[in-house]
Amino acid sequence: MDIIKLLPDSLANQIAAGEVIQRPASVVKELLENAIDAGATRIQLLIKDAGKTLIQVIDNGAGMSETDARMSFERHATSKIKFSEDLEHIRTMGFRGEALASIAAIAQLELKTKPHDQDLGTRILISGSKLEKQEPIQYPGGTSFSVSNLFFNTPARRKFLKSDPVELKNILEEFEHIALAYPEVEMTCHNGDTEIYILSKGNLKQRIMAVFGKSMNEKIVAIEEHTDLVNMGGFIGKIEACKKKRGEQYLFVNRRYIKSNYLHHAIKAAYESLIGEEDHPFYVLFLDLDPTRIDVNVHPSKHEIKFLDERIIYQYLRVATRHALGQYVPLSLDFESGDKGISNQITSSIYNPEARKNYGTQFGQPTAEKTSIPNQDWRKLYEILKAPDESKGDSIAAILINSQINNEDQLVPSTLNASDSERQYASKDPYQIHLSYIISPVASGLMIVDQETAHRRILYEKSLKQMTGQAAPSQRSLFPTTIQMSGSDQIILNHLIPDLKQLGFDLEPFGTNNFIIHGSPADWSASISIHHFIEELVKEYAHDESKKSDYKTYLAYQISKSQGLKQGQSLTVEEMKFIIDQLFACEEPAFGPSGGRCYTIIELQEIEKRMR
Ligand code: ADP
Ligand code: MG
Repeated sequence: MDIIKLLPDSLANQIAAGEVIQRPASVVKELLENAIDAGATRIQLLIKDAGKTLIQVIDNGAGMSETDARMSFERHATSKIKFSEDLEHIRTMGFRGEALASIAAIAQLELKTKPHDQDLGTRILISGSKLEKQEPIQYPGGTSFSVSNLFFNTPARRKFLKSDPVELKNILEEFEHIALAYPEVEMTCHNGDTEIYILSKGNLKQRIMAVFGKSMNEKIVAIEEHTDLVNMGGFIGKIEACKKKRGEQYLFVNRRYIKSNYLHHAIKAAYESLIGEEDHPFYVLFLDLDPTRIDVNVHPSKHEIKFLDERIIYQYLRVATRHALGQYVPLSLDFESGDKGISNQITSSIYNPEARKNYGTQFGQPTAEKTSIPNQDWRKLYEILKAPDESKGDSIAAILINSQINNEDQLVPSTLNASDSERQYASKDPYQIHLSYIISPVASGLMIVDQETAHRRILYEKSLKQMTGQAAPSQRSLFPTTIQMSGSDQIILNHLIPDLKQLGFDLEPFGTNNFIIHGSPADWSASISIHHFIEELVKEYAHDESKKSDYKTYLAYQISKSQGLKQGQSLTVEEMKFIIDQLFACEEPAFGPSGGRCYTIIELQEIEKRMR
């Protein structure tokens, strides 16, 4: 019996959709690209619930005839390729003719469209690849696509969607890519009633300022170079526009946003020795080259492309970037002599190695005031150790006796008896080894505390408490400062503000793209810039896959990471006592917020055994 069958179209489309449409942002990308391909000069993006409920794109482009409107949902239906040679010369954003068929397979879709020279337009309703309705309508010229209830018939996919701010962030990234690539197109973006971007048409510099804030004006330098192979143009960030995180790097090839670690490296290499290893320069760069020299068809979402002349382009890009940097930093442009020597020849006074060094090490230096020691707490701990019977709840004795640790740590004894000898321990000072571990005698043997993990646990729980209980004290700065955020980052920060306030950060939105910082938590380590912390917080929120579901946990985690002690830091006896004391006042002293044990105990019996 024959068993091979052709898949029904609707199922084939649903499967194909898995490749093209992974999340609401993929729909946004495809619809925006279609609007661009249709020659629109104005595009509106409307979303609801981060695209999970609705994504609508309205354009004033060419529109579609009745037949084209119907055809556009067929798989491999495209107006952009007619002959196989066309594929080589492709300059439009789309060409595979898959996007609409894919979207229609996994959502409910309404299309309204009309070519400018026709009297009547067309309205089509499709749900899960099924045509529900087609009718003539009155419509101004152009096209509107509304996509509702994405993944309504593929629940597994729906389940994999991230929290709203994360999906929104992804959507806005796609919007930003198109917005940067097409500054001559007027673009707006709304999420529910919130206006996120209103971008009037302009030149690239104006667009960059509209997206990233007006202050970019002073922070970027123009690039322009022409070679036989490639034309390069755009803007690169000055040194002060560098960030620790990747994110604000935009490379476009024939106006298509692409990801290329290889070419990113070329640009970074041009900054060599001007910025630190971990810093990433800002750039919005355009490469324009003969479409036959690239292959865009290597990836369904076309984010990656292949270059025939990758190595030459690498070199050109590096030289061009270096050139542009040279416009404001005097430095060598001597590329023929190779990589060597360039760094040695920098003579700029702008370049200040000292400043950079400070920037690089501003993390995690504990300051004296942060670890001022409440002596009584330590005494209290040993009081508890002396009298386990009276201890309740979160005392160390209770914890050591309690099952939690017994189960997980074979080394912990099952009982603790207060005895004379225990009283001695109270007076014994802890001791630090390898600038990483705190050693302290306890009744059952020898306790080893990992200073980094333990301190993180302490800060983590403290932050969580501050967010649910009474707000932490804040210290007002003498001079309030402002921090700039692009549209998508703004949304995330706005979501985080209520909790940040509880933690003692005093900040609020201020004009477009800006936030004003009035104060910081009273015990904030002075060596860590609040600006930097907040920037990282927002950036990482979008990239960190694990901790997105819950802002509070995420914030507590980030605080503990930023403010926590590090290994390799020398501690005073008082500081060590403080850590042990605070650790065992925690609800879960056994493990750090990202796993890893806070401490272990080597039992006396174990020690005796080893001595035999
Ligand atoms: P592709 O963009 O790869 O051609 P799509 O599935 O995205 O495939 O779109 C199919 C066709 O529908 C396009 O080739 C185009 O002719 C038409 N189309 C899609 N969106 C629009 C729009 N906004 N305005 C006009 N025509 C459109
Ligand atoms: Mg398309």
